[in-house]
Amino acid sequence: MDFRLSDEQLEFKDHCRRFASEVIRPVAAQHDRDQTVPWDAIRKAREWGLNDMENLQRMGMDPDGMFGVIYSEELHWGCAGIALAISASSLAAAGIASSGTPEQIGQWLPECFGIGEEIKLGAYAVTEAGAGSDVKSLRTTAKLDGDEWVLNGTKVFISNGGIADVTVVIATVDPELGHRGQASFVVPKGTPGLSQGKKEDKIGIRASQTTEVVLEDCRIPVDYLLGGMDKLNRKLEKARSGASTGRQSGALATFEITRPMVGASALGIAQAAYEWTLGYLESQSDENGPLLDQQRVQQVLADVATEIEAARLLVYRAAWMGRAGVPMTGGQGSMSKLKAGDVTMWAVPTLMDLVGPFAQTTECPLEKWFRDAKIYQIFEGTAQVQRLVVSRMQRQEYASQHKEAAEVLEQPPGSSTGDSGGTTGDVVGDAAKKTVTPA
Ligand SMILES: Cc1cc2nc3c(=O)[nH]c(=O)nc-3n(C[C@H](O)[C@H](O)[C@H](O)COP(=O)(O)OP(=O)(O)OC[C@H]3O[C@@H](n4cnc5c(N)ncnc54)[C@H](O)[C@@H]3O)c2cc1C
Repeated sequence: MDFRLSDEQLEFKDHCRRFASEVIRPVAAQHDRDQTVPWDAIRKAREWGLNDMENLQRMGMDPDGMFGVIYSEELHWGCAGIALAISASSLAAAGIASSGTPEQIGQWLPECFGIGEEIKLGAYAVTEAGAGSDVKSLRTTAKLDGDEWVLNGTKVFISNGGIADVTVVIATVDPELGHRGQASFVVPKGTPGLSQGKKEDKIGIRASQTTEVVLEDCRIPVDYLLGGMDKLNRKLEKARSGASTGRQSGALATFEITRPMVGASALGIAQAAYEWTLGYLESQSDENGPLLDQQRVQQVLADVATEIEAARLLVYRAAWMGRAGVPMTGGQGSMSKLKAGDVTMWAVPTLMDLVGPFAQTTECPLEKWFRDAKIYQIFEGTAQVQRLVVSRMQRQEYASQHKEAAEVLEQPPGSSTGDSGGTTGDVVGDAAKKTVTPA
């Protein structure tokens, strides 16, 4: 096992850090203050190769899954709001990639980014009032009328809402079936019946636009259903018959893919706050001498650095597992996001305590990181919901390992699976190969 990043990964990390320093940071305060979309930074990200199909491909081809998490951490180190404005389209792209047919993927992925100099954005619209964590209760409907789908409902808190060129909408075609009665649809900008609702005035990630997305008798062609009619009909039939699909819903599958990237985003904020505090404290002294020479300060900085590093290792492992196709039977994807969000929301105020009263002013950058950090315990699964997912998966994994161990012990001595010292390893290995899906 080699924990080092490769030369190519290190080079990419450096490239992202330079973009964050030279392009994002200089305009971060202004977009945070005015709550405006950072179009210029989005365009420059294209010039730097950090917001296009090529970048998406780079992440898709990376055998270790590291490019995605490096990208997220470094851009969020620059400014979480601007980084999200640049990268939120990836969520729509992930929705299309996980549910679409190969033809749909070819048609709609470029619509999330644009080609050449053209800039396009995507949005992924799941959440509704009363249905975010409880995704099975979505009330937005999709009804087939001839060769068109008619969508009705209101999505809330949608990143890139109102400015997206393509919005992936999760709607229910059969509310009685919960999440198994849901499907994903592509709704291009300008479709009659699609409009922007209320724009949120947020405390953090203010450069990322968040709005309601309203669908009123919004008609789209039948082939804008991701995955196609045959697949949907098979899925509905199976659900009505009560048979298990053994698969997650489109929305849950998309969130599973993106969770380590969200964890990495949170760590970008924690890392930025840690680095800034180290630099700031370098010049600070009190009656006991320079602050960095004092053990009370060193204790806190060591804890912050250790927690960030521990969270990063969970994020890297989950990203690697996702790419290598190793089932996350213990909830490793959710763990990585949970830990990174909690570490960030703990690290920033802990560093503020070290800095003292200056940290309570808007002149101190920790103030913005403090506001930006909170969202990582809320979106793409709240911290509480991540805990539920992790505990459920841990329980299933434990039960499955014990069931298999009991079966092996019941076999007569000398039988092919029941002998030798390798048994325990085989049992654990087999159990680990089973996919346990979070609900
Ligand atoms: C800035 C921002 C951007 C967003 N971007 C998007 C986007 O692009 N697309 C999209 O679809 N959504 C987006 N969201 C929505 C976000 O994903 C949801 O708000 C989040 O999943 C929480 O769902 P909810 O709003 O229904 O909260 P609720 O589920 O109502 O949660 C309220 C509280 O109850 C807790 N809770 C709920 N159920 C349980 C339980 N069973 N046990 C213990 N505690 C529980 C939650 O943890 C939370 O603390 C965004 C939200 C924000 C704030």
